[in-house]
Amino acid sequence: MPTRSTATDTNDTDHNAESDESPSAFAALGLDPSIVKALTALGYEEPTPIQTETIPALIAGKDVLGQAATGTGKTAAFSLPILQRLHDSHRGQGHGPYALILAPTRELAMQVAEAIHKYGKAMGVSVLPVYGGAAMAQQLKALKRGVDIVVATPGRALDHIRRKSLQLGSVRTVVLDEADEMLDMGFAEDLEAILSETPADRQTALFSATIAPRIAAIANKHLKNPVRVTIARDKTKAGSVPRVRQMAYIVPRVHKMATLGRVLDMESPKSALVFCRTRTEVDGLTETLNARGYRAEALHGGMTQEQRDRVMKKFRANTADLLVATDVAARGLDIGHLSHVFNYDVPTSPDAYVHRIGRTGRAGREGVAITLAEPREHRFLRNIENITKQKIEIATVPTIADMRVRRVELTRATLQEILIGGELDEYRGVVESLADGDYDVMDVAAAAVKMAHEASGNDKHEAEEEIPVERSSIPHDRPKREGKPPRTVAGTKRKPSWEVAKIYIGAGRKAKIRPGDIVGAIANELKIDADAIGAIEIYDRFSLVEVPDEIADDIVTTLRATHIKGKRVPVRRDKDVA
Ligand code: AMP
Repeated sequence: MPTRSTATDTNDTDHNAESDESPSAFAALGLDPSIVKALTALGYEEPTPIQTETIPALIAGKDVLGQAATGTGKTAAFSLPILQRLHDSHRGQGHGPYALILAPTRELAMQVAEAIHKYGKAMGVSVLPVYGGAAMAQQLKALKRGVDIVVATPGRALDHIRRKSLQLGSVRTVVLDEADEMLDMGFAEDLEAILSETPADRQTALFSATIAPRIAAIANKHLKNPVRVTIARDKTKAGSVPRVRQMAYIVPRVHKMATLGRVLDMESPKSALVFCRTRTEVDGLTETLNARGYRAEALHGGMTQEQRDRVMKKFRANTADLLVATDVAARGLDIGHLSHVFNYDVPTSPDAYVHRIGRTGRAGREGVAITLAEPREHRFLRNIENITKQKIEIATVPTIADMRVRRVELTRATLQEILIGGELDEYRGVVESLADGDYDVMDVAAAAVKMAHEASGNDKHEAEEEIPVERSSIPHDRPKREGKPPRTVAGTKRKPSWEVAKIYIGAGRKAKIRPGDIVGAIANELKIDADAIGAIEIYDRFSLVEVPDEIADDIVTTLRATHIKGKRVPVRRDKDVA
């Protein structure tokens, strides 16, 4: 297997050369320069572990059985080889699809199609997402015109196959993405029917978060001598994990920046490293942080040695408080103790996580590692806990009210320092003259506090966006706050203040489901406040539950993986009938 630049080096030596080589780390896996160029433009610095193992095998035409969850880079792991093989096939226009990717949900199908579009744009590759709920006419037109890669939900794929609008005789590669979820949704028969329409000598790749016996059975039946790929776990020994306080916030992507801002303000880190996945993210985040008044500096593999030296100088001289870096850039850093490590994105493997958090808590000093995970990535956190045998505390995103209190506290602390420092005589006169007039001494002091508070910039984010705590995160163990919607009475209608989506759960009265079971399953698993859950309707064979639209997909994903009344049941968006 081709080697990639070393990923495990913990020495504090400089590895700048590595960054210059990073594009070739992808090239070394067998990818064409046009694809590598697209990855570099996206800010990818090196392949993730799953990519390193999967890409060469798939390019070589082998079948792959991959155990990988969201966040590991699995989409690129199967998409890039498809693009490579398509590139090598030199096929012209007007053929049937070259590859078929099956995904459990409309959202995932769209996400995968978008990723492939980005990776293959320069090659002129055409990709079509095909899912239930979307207008049929458009899909029919596009299929007729001819596409290279179809990304479909099983139900809609079968629909097209029966209409003969999707013919699979030309398919060379089939990918079953999130196969466990497809089975959970009851797509097993559909998968069989679809696979039987594809040529027997096709290449097949199956990805699943867990390789349960029923997944292994499908793999046995449909994969030929597959290369089995798992993210290396054995490298991370529980004992080698640094002892630092580990916390995580679960927030949807759109609220990550605001969350980071609040957490930074709450924690007031003395010196911190913020990790992102790509160069593009590093640059973007650094810019936003600076615009918000933090002193942040970017560090990534695209920078020259001179630029890096300049950044490190600023950091050491305390003219920068935050370093925002990719894994590659941080690997060679010679920095002593850091009070905090932030993972703006979850890292792509447990090893990378351990490596990142090892940057803090050095030499017996206290360190804090804080991870922002998207709801879909909650599996990653559990995985890490299992591997490191250490607890990651799931914390609640501070509210605007929390922030206000914290900032006033900071002002108070500053004033206290000044009081202790003394030398106030020249200002006493001011207080006296105001107090001799009509003013109460207490009011004079309060006015001075207000002025100090504003002048210190501690009121800076008062106009900050509202992070909808109820739907975005996990206010468990938290007293009820004011201003929240009234507590849900399960089974009754109420009007929430956010956009609502309905979720279909394939179990109802006959299975003795009660509203409390559904609220419990959602609230416990995703740690979402029960108040975010709207009306629940229970029918004989199924139930419908209203949830905030923004997190509906995460709830669907999670519920599929959990047991309701001791059983796994089909779950999907109500309108998302594939
Ligand atoms: P996935 O696990 O496929 O859902 O990918 C998770 C995220 O990682 C996506 O936002 C990708 O764009 C990103 N990603 C995938 N591969 C890499 C890589 N080699 N370097 C940096 N980011 C990546």
